[in-house]
Order: sequence, then structure tokens, then C-alpha cells
Amino acid sequence: MKRLEQVFHNQGEFFKTGKTLDLDFRKAQLKKLENILKASENLLYEAIYKDFRKSEFETYTTELSFIYNEIKFYIKNLKKLSKPQKVKTNLSNFPGSSYIYKDPYGKSLVIGAWNYPYQLSLLPVVCAIASGNVCILKPSEMAENTSEIMAKLINENFPENYLYVSEGGVEVTSELLELNFDKIFFTGSPKIGKIVYEATAKNLTPVTLELGGKSPVIVSDNSNLDVAAKRIVWGKFLNAGQTCIAPDFVLVHRNVRSKFIDCLTKYLDQFDYQENASHYTSIINSKNFQRLEKLIDDEKVIYGNHKNPDTNFLSPTVLDNVSWDDDVMQEEIFGPILPILTYENFQQTIDDLKSKEKPLSAYLFSDEEDEKSYFLNHFSFGGGCINDVLMHIGNGNLPFGGVGNSGIGNYHGKFGFDAFVHQKAILKRKTWGEPNLKYPPYSDKKISFLKRFL
Ligand code: NAD
Repeated sequence: MKRLEQVFHNQGEFFKTGKTLDLDFRKAQLKKLENILKASENLLYEAIYKDFRKSEFETYTTELSFIYNEIKFYIKNLKKLSKPQKVKTNLSNFPGSSYIYKDPYGKSLVIGAWNYPYQLSLLPVVCAIASGNVCILKPSEMAENTSEIMAKLINENFPENYLYVSEGGVEVTSELLELNFDKIFFTGSPKIGKIVYEATAKNLTPVTLELGGKSPVIVSDNSNLDVAAKRIVWGKFLNAGQTCIAPDFVLVHRNVRSKFIDCLTKYLDQFDYQENASHYTSIINSKNFQRLEKLIDDEKVIYGNHKNPDTNFLSPTVLDNVSWDDDVMQEEIFGPILPILTYENFQQTIDDLKSKEKPLSAYLFSDEEDEKSYFLNHFSFGGGCINDVLMHIGNGNLPFGGVGNSGIGNYHGKFGFDAFVHQKAILKRKTWGEPNLKYPPYSDKKISFLKRFL
């Protein structure tokens, strides 16, 4: 047996012992993971800085705090979440009672992305543990130092027949996808998401796909432009635009375009994203740096476009007078380039967006109720905000996930727990009190009675 197949097999054997069904066991593993991460925070900061110069501040606020909060939530709510949920029983099953059992899937696989390497790898692992699964994690090879430190910390501290980190690229992922997992949780691009979906179809494996897309932000002429600009600049250039829910492009009402651009540049200057600023991340590698360079049409640059290919530094770059046909509008940008397009008719612009792939997020800055209502009720996207960007991800009471091309399923909080369990429907019958109606021989009297009650 190959190494990974062996780990997979051993995890299956461990799951069969029923040990992971014990809630105290699950809580102890969550606590252990938290302690390990907290004790090694310096190593985590060091690794992510080496990968793409991400600061301690952003690593804590956008990655580690999410993991700690999720662990805290599950430890506090595990009993409630895992308890069979009693639901109403219909008349034809009287006397009886009905329940939804939260049945852990068993052998789970988490495939992470590199852009928030700790959050996107470990948050699904936390959900898998809380829900009573065994798990193999495959972090992204593109952030090699963070992948290495996660493998070290987990593989040195957890038995591999329970939780194991398998490092590697396409070859390793392909090998893992050959195994018959009971649940796969993938974060990455829609292109690779399709490969994963196809591979999982072979075994009918339930799958969560957390993907991406071009997330629009609409700035209406009925909005607070200063607040809109401030929040968009922050959300777009956090992590140097390498955020799955970052505003990909701006659609601003033609009448306020110039005022909005003034506000944008004011905040870009104020936030001071210099090459050596500790709060500005670099592009993950030269391949992505070159991909981004090609998306910049020099004639449309109105701000930024300062580069250093040696350090993969690309400053916040704003493009004006962009049209739907420009290169930058043909793919998810996933970097610090902000194209600005204008619109005249609000409904028409939403209808235009509807003809594209459904995005992971969408944002609207407006104080006009009709606009908010049209945006919320006529446009399908994963999730988003009114008068803000990104911040919906921070509310664990909201499901996080895409729709259509941006993903299948969701997680965070209760939703993350549910992503790793099968909802087993159980009816418990009494052995008394049953009318003799469903049993043959059938009669006209029986059917007319049933027609009244069913
Ligand atoms: P990616 O799809 O290139 O890689 C994701 C994972 O898939 C990695 O672990 C990688 O090793 C693996 N992989 C790559 N090629 C593969 C192949 N041929 N077969 C099997 N596995 C393969 O994505 P990425 O570059 O790491 O991340 C960027 C994308 O992810 C963007 O589209 C972004 O929007 C999306 N994303 C989504 C979320 C979310 O939560 N929805 C979060 C972060 C990123």
C-alpha cells in the first residue's frame, strides 16, 4: 500500500472504533489544536511572512482569530449542535416521533488555498473535528512555508490515524482524489473546483466547493462616497487584493465617478501602501506577478502601478474608463488592480451582472431602499454587504459560500458543523395505536378516508 493510502486506511479503522463520536474527545482535540497554534504563533507569523510578506496584524485578524473563534464556538455549542434534533411528526406516522441525527461522514479530506493559508486550511479542519470526522489536510503548495509549518505542528502532535497533513502539489492532490473519502472540502479556483468535482463524482462523495469569481461593488449616486471609498480601498488592497471576496471591480454611477475617484485616491494616499510598508503584502509568486502585469493597460492607469519584480511588489493600481471587453474584465483579478466602470441605470447594471457567472460576493453602496431591494432580490451571488465590503465573512452566524460558478455548499459556525455531517432522518414508531389503513386488502372506504387525511 502507498503511504497516503495507508494513512487513509488507518484513519478509516480509527473512525470505526467510534472514538470520534465522543464529544469530550472532540473538544479535547479542538483545545489541543488551539494550544498548539497559540504556543507556536511566532513560527506561524514567520512562515507567512516568508511566503508573501503578510504582517502579524493581518495574520492575526484575518486568519488566527477566525480559527480561535470557531474553536471557541464549537467547544461551547458542541452538545447542542450534535444532539439529534427533534422535529414534528406528521399524522400518518402517529404515534411516533421524528429526529435528525447528525452523523459524521467519516474520512474527510480538506484541500486548502494559499491566499489565507491558515484560515482556509485549518477552519475546515476545525469543522471536521467538531463534527466527529477523521481528516487529511492538503494545504496549498504555493505557500510552501505555511504548508510546512502546519504539517510539522499537526503531524508531530496528532496521531496520523486521526489527523494528518499531506503536503504537495497536483500529484499529491490527484493521488488523494483517487481515494474514496466520505467528504471532500475544497477551497480554490472554479477551474480546479471542476476537476475536484469530476473526481468526486466517481465515488459520489459529498463535496463542498469554496470557489471564487469576479465580485462586483456598485457605488450608487445615492451613497456616502467617502465611506464607500474608504471601505473599498481597505477591502480591495487587504492581502494585496489576493482575497476571494475582495471587490474585483467597481461600477460607479456616472454622475459621481469623478468625486468617487477623488475619495479613492485620498484614502490610497492615506493608507500609504509603500513597498516596504509592513501592512502591505506582496504577490505570492512571480507567475502571478506576471499574470497581473499583463492585466494592466498602462493607458488606463490613474493611480499606482509601481512594481518590483524582484520582490513581487505591485502597488495598488486603479484603472479608469474600463469596459467589459478589457482583458482585466475577462478573469478574476486576485491582485491589487481595481478597474472602474461606470453605469447610468441601476436596474440595467444589475441585469448586466446577471448575465455573467454568479459571483462569490457582491457589494452595494447606496442609501436608496429601492436600489437595495433590487440588488438583494434580483441578483444571485454567494453573500455580501450593503454599505461595506468583506465584513460579512466575520459573522459566524452567517453561512459562507458561493453559488453557481462560485461554489457549492457553505461553512462557518453551525453551517460548518453541518457541512461535515450527514443529516440522518429517523422516525421512531410505537408498536401500538396504528390504524389498519395502509395494509391490504385496499377498499373504497379506506381510500376515501385516506384522501381526507393525507
Ligand atoms: P487553485 O485552484 O489553483 O488551488 C487550490 C488547491 O487545488 C491547491 O491546494 C492546489 O494544490 C490544488 N490543485 C491545483 N491544481 C490542481 C489539479 N490540477 N488537480 C488537483 N488539485 C489541484 O487556487 P488558488 O490559486 O490556491 O486560490 C485562488 C482561487 O481560490 C481564487 O479563484 C479564489 O477566489 C479562490 N478562493 C476561494 C475561497 C473561498 O473561500 N471561496 C477562498 C480563497 C480562495
